[in-house]
Amino acid sequence: MSQVRVRFAPSPTGFFHIGSARTALFNWLYARHTGGVFILRIEDTDKERNTEAFLNVIYNSLTWLGLNWDEGPKAGGQFGPYRQSERTSIYREYLEKLKAGGRTYEKDGAVYFKISGEPQVIDDAIRGRVERTEEKDFVIVRSDGSPVFHLVNVVDDITMQITHVIRGEDHLSNTSKHTELFRAFGAPLPVYAHIPLILKQNGPGKMSKRDQGALIEEYEQRGYLPEALVNFLCLLGWSPKDDSEKMPLAEIIRRFDLPGVNQTNARFDEKKLAHMNMVYLLEQPADRFVALARDYLKRKNTFAAGWPEDAYFRDVMLLSQPKVKSIEELPAYTAYFFTEDFAVDPKARDKVMGKGDPKARLRELADALKTADFSSDAALEQAVHAQVAAHGVGLGDYIHPGRLAISGTSVGPSFYGLLRVLGRERVLRRIERLLAT
Ligand code: GLU
Repeated sequence: MSQVRVRFAPSPTGFFHIGSARTALFNWLYARHTGGVFILRIEDTDKERNTEAFLNVIYNSLTWLGLNWDEGPKAGGQFGPYRQSERTSIYREYLEKLKAGGRTYEKDGAVYFKISGEPQVIDDAIRGRVERTEEKDFVIVRSDGSPVFHLVNVVDDITMQITHVIRGEDHLSNTSKHTELFRAFGAPLPVYAHIPLILKQNGPGKMSKRDQGALIEEYEQRGYLPEALVNFLCLLGWSPKDDSEKMPLAEIIRRFDLPGVNQTNARFDEKKLAHMNMVYLLEQPADRFVALARDYLKRKNTFAAGWPEDAYFRDVMLLSQPKVKSIEELPAYTAYFFTEDFAVDPKARDKVMGKGDPKARLRELADALKTADFSSDAALEQAVHAQVAAHGVGLGDYIHPGRLAISGTSVGPSFYGLLRVLGRERVLRRIERLLAT
């Protein structure tokens, strides 16, 4: 069989959403799985609704997700141009072919296509045999001279030598018009693969770009990992036979195939996506996690935003990496590392300072930390344990007021990691400050 050629054909009329990304991904995966060609084609014939801004969102989102295109705007290719607004002469040429074959007529300034009325049967790679018969001639060029979606879509699929049309099930009802046109042009049909809809998280109905969590750009801004999103998206309508979920991209590419795409609709689940992202975040190499954290914190107006990119910043982020569920938690989770003016949780304070003699314990803790070795968690642990033994108190008698003094809260990273990263100077200063109140 000849090389697979698939295309993602968005209309830049709105933001790039989960459904578009999933269609792009399935095409890209199929191309990569088969060693084929992934084409980006911009369906921008509707001049009024298309904007350059939306076009850039498409390029950026595809690039961020890692869905590189082999042919298309910016990439070039021998079947261009790849924007429909630049292909007018090609459509005119194809329209002439239909006219010459006696398959058109004009009415009220519009050009109509004369249907054959034959049953249109396709063997859809996902849905199986689908039969539909067109009953009415339809417009292919509007009275203002602009060609209609059905015509340009088919002409481009023919001229770009598309072998597989992988698109949303909402286009299934257009397919009989398209196959009528393919046959009228005497062109072989591509293989069709109509992928199931994505239902909105709550309630019935298809997910739309207005639904919460629908926009791809938002995930980038929220510090999500594109590979986590790709992993999540591939499971929206496709599943490997053994129900694996988290898979490296190379494995997804190896296993992805059209017969594995479900016929039943998929449901968007924001929690599942957040969880997938957390699992990916946990295993990020240090450099990548720190870079993600830095980008995000820079964009947010927090104390960390202006902090230099030094070893301290890095230590703070690596201490937090196993503890946060998302990059978005970092500003709040790490605030006290970057300011002396951090909030103190009143509940934690009342609880910790309200029983026993916490100030005496803090004094003893400070004494131990004055001479302790701050270079490792183990050394710090040893120093605190020695003080526990010397004074015959519980470990918690040091840890609870100690944590409150240095971080203002009762939750956070391990106590010894916290001491190590904050460093002797900050730790002692903060303990003295609490003792002075
Ligand atoms: N421009 C169409 C859309 O955005 C693409 C249709 C197709 O893939 O054939 O839905």
